[in-house]
Amino acid sequence: MRLLLVEDEEGFAEALCTSLKMEHYIVDWAADGEEGLDQALSDVYDAVILDIMLPKMSGLEILKEMRNQDIHTPVIMLTAKSELNDKITGLDMGADDYLTKPFHREELFARLRALTRRQTTDAEAPSEVAYGDIYMQQGGNELYCRSSGSSIALNGKEYQLMEYLLRNGGQIISREQIIEKVWGYDTDAEYNNVEVYISFLRKKLTFLKAGTSIQTVRKLGYKLQ
Ligand code: CA
Repeated sequence: MRLLLVEDEEGFAEALCTSLKMEHYIVDWAADGEEGLDQALSDVYDAVILDIMLPKMSGLEILKEMRNQDIHTPVIMLTAKSELNDKITGLDMGADDYLTKPFHREELFARLRALTRRQTTDAEAPSEVAYGDIYMQQGGNELYCRSSGSSIALNGKEYQLMEYLLRNGGQIISREQIIEKVWGYDTDAEYNNVEVYISFLRKKLTFLKAGTSIQTVRKLGYKLQ
């Protein structure tokens, strides 16, 4: 799950990013409205957390422009108590939810889970991603194997990489896609990192005695099989 946080208060944004990462979200942070809009329009996010009062461009303008350009990423707005009218305008303009500052992080996590569940209700069980005999549950950090009945904990990057592989089922994903999705744009991550984490995951799949494995597809990338 990849999130965009658009928030100009640096200390608050950093603390929020840290706790979201601990919940295994991948988070990109934009500190002003223009940057936020640019990133939101890239349409790579599963949800956007949008502050209203921002330098250069307000959260409401960003939201309006996103919806104008047919970007339907779920948006949670962050509002101050004094901005009650903005909250109503925001919901009218297509925000999916709002939180009034200050809020408890647990509340944000719960809203995010609800939003992203709404988004993926079509095929699989909402809170689970699975392929072959392996699966993961959202909000947890374990990889399970149905055939052996075992499970193993994954660390942050392992979790994000495995979740990405699982979400793509048996389709090939390239190293570039993995770097973009797991490490983000502004990153020094190189192909080596991808290979290292793929090898960690392979060891864990072996430990689980899973029938599902990560195949290297020459020159193209990786896929689950
Ligand atoms: Ca602000």
